[in-house]
Amino acid sequence: MATWIDTHCHLDAPEFDDDRQAVIDRAAAAGVSMMVVPAVMPATFQAARDAAHQARGAYALGTHPLFVQQAGADAAQALDVQLARWADDPRLVAVGEIGLDAFVPDSRDGAAWSAQVRCYEAQLALASAHGLPAILHVRRSADPLLKALRALRDQGRPVPGGIAHAFNGSAQQAEAFIGLGFKLGFGGAMTFERALQIRRLAQTLPAEAIVLETDAPDIPPQWLYRTAAERAAGARSRNEPGELPRIAATLAALRGWTIDETRSITTANALAALPRLGALLSAVPPRCA
Ligand SMILES: [Zn+2]
Repeated sequence: MATWIDTHCHLDAPEFDDDRQAVIDRAAAAGVSMMVVPAVMPATFQAARDAAHQARGAYALGTHPLFVQQAGADAAQALDVQLARWADDPRLVAVGEIGLDAFVPDSRDGAAWSAQVRCYEAQLALASAHGLPAILHVRRSADPLLKALRALRDQGRPVPGGIAHAFNGSAQQAEAFIGLGFKLGFGGAMTFERALQIRRLAQTLPAEAIVLETDAPDIPPQWLYRTAAERAAGARSRNEPGELPRIAATLAALRGWTIDETRSITTANALAALPRLGALLSAVPPRCA
């Protein structure tokens, strides 16, 4: 399939309100004809769905760990309701973005951490119940994320795989996710020469474990990066899905793959992680060169 897939792109974010269609058009012109838009809390479910439909892409529903407080106590229930309501929408391909963040100080301690864990576990159980893969936010949290995945598996109701996005854990943790049917997402962070651990993982993980993503508007690649001082002075460092092929060139160089190989391998992996993408891709009209 000759298309790039951006497996993680917040196209519904306010950063794209002024020029969303131009962003979609630039992505299509770059050969990125499929993107997955994960919601971050129930209040953004409709926006994520709308953005995905506008781009003829896909979306996921869930509450992001850093939005747990804002989403409120009934976030998981709201997810359950909406997964049922939109079950027939072929563009709904996963539960996400869900997970745990043990990096941000306000979220990693005490009651805030307990709330994160409760919300994650409830949403993971819903992914299993609805038969949908999960798109996971992993930041210094691989072990507790894995623990909950294993618990469901051991109860005979496993989550059907998914993607550990913007992965930055150890090789051992990567293997554990792979063993549970997950792919690992690589994006802009890989383009920094000093990102030794991420580049080593991208270089050495099994080929079938790697998917590509931008996480736009976040995680700008090295060529879009601006320092805090530059941004304060008004410089823009917004990432967008059209950057994916250039990010992929970094992966190609690290792996010794051609660009065509990189595209076909990562596209096949994205389809394996998010099987509902298959029907959407075969409906994509051929692009005029
Ligand atoms: Zn994200």
